[in-house]
Amino acid sequence: MVIGNSLSIVNATKYYKKFKAVDDVNLTVNQGEFLTILGPSGSGKTSLLKLIAGFEQLSNGSIVLNDVDISKKKPYEREIGMLFQNYALFPHMTVFDNIAYPLRLRKFPKEVIKQKVETILKLIHLEQFGSRYPEQLSGGQQQRVALARAIVFNPPLLLLDEPLGALDKQLRKQMQLEIKHIQKQVGITTVSVTHDQEEALTMSDKICVMNNGKVEQIDTPENIYKHPKNRFVAEFIGEINLIKGNVVNVSEENVKVKVHDSFIADVERIKDFGIEVKNQSMLIALRPENIQIARDLSQFQNTIQAKIIETIYVGEAVNIKTVTETGEEITAKIPAHMSDLSGSGRDILLGWNSKDACLIQDEKTA
Ligand code: ADP
Ligand code: MG
Repeated sequence: MVIGNSLSIVNATKYYKKFKAVDDVNLTVNQGEFLTILGPSGSGKTSLLKLIAGFEQLSNGSIVLNDVDISKKKPYEREIGMLFQNYALFPHMTVFDNIAYPLRLRKFPKEVIKQKVETILKLIHLEQFGSRYPEQLSGGQQQRVALARAIVFNPPLLLLDEPLGALDKQLRKQMQLEIKHIQKQVGITTVSVTHDQEEALTMSDKICVMNNGKVEQIDTPENIYKHPKNRFVAEFIGEINLIKGNVVNVSEENVKVKVHDSFIADVERIKDFGIEVKNQSMLIALRPENIQIARDLSQFQNTIQAKIIETIYVGEAVNIKTVTETGEEITAKIPAHMSDLSGSGRDILLGWNSKDACLIQDEKTA
């Protein structure tokens, strides 16, 4: 068993000439944890990973692995396991030899190498494939071999940079789960980079959302999805309706937000919100799947009259675009088996409960 180590990134900043690609990043990954850095292209994800690996030097700050500052160490001295999208296997070597490579490099005794490679081949369910060559394996199998090669020498940390980017969607989904299972079984501390929000939600214990080199939010997948901290996080992950309103009352449990004279929304208050949000302009963040078609006004804590603009069939659900009587555009996602709604122009009643929405700062006016 590999024992993971904790990683701390402290005030990390990276300039390429005058361009700041990583801007004062602070984050901690606990032992055995899987953290995903998620952000759009150009947000500084790969730069941050290269800083951890030692391929780039920090302009400022430090990287601490298991209580040791490794910022000044050469990449090979850091002994970190890596798996990148184009991290190709050696084509002229068998699967066994590919996996044994990092162990031979480190001069492990022959018997130890044999035992370690066989153990890990079992872990990746390829125990019968040791004598094959990479070209005789499927894409997913090759990826598992590359993963095995990255972790066979018990590195303190595993880094993944868009490792599944080259695979088709179905295989990618399957590999996400396989890598996660192997990571958990081995218990290796892992930092992964992706621009794919679904991948981040599926694989991670924690997600760090980046934008313009800065950290926007670090949290569990569930909290990132249910309680995005700001507009960027809310819009980057999943579909969301953002409804602008003014806070008119804050009680122990609820916040009342006036969207319109005829509509005051009730939102469950979470611990972050103090009484000072009163009178502030804020955004009500509401996931389409949390909205339902209401039978009457008493069925949900929030109901609003709306007109259907468009219905879009997406297989398991129907996305219903509406405009409310107060002028807001709201999209609801209704399970297909519950929706017999067709055509635009129909009037419906949208409903949701207070706990299914959250409030975020309206940065434009804050
Ligand atoms: P991501 O992986 O999130 O797409 P990167 O870390 O690769 O982002 O890049 C972040 C920003 O830094 C981009 O604007 C990119 O053009 C710039 N950048 C990355 N590497 C270099 C480099 N070696 N020299 C100059 N600029 C770079
Ligand atoms: Mg990148």
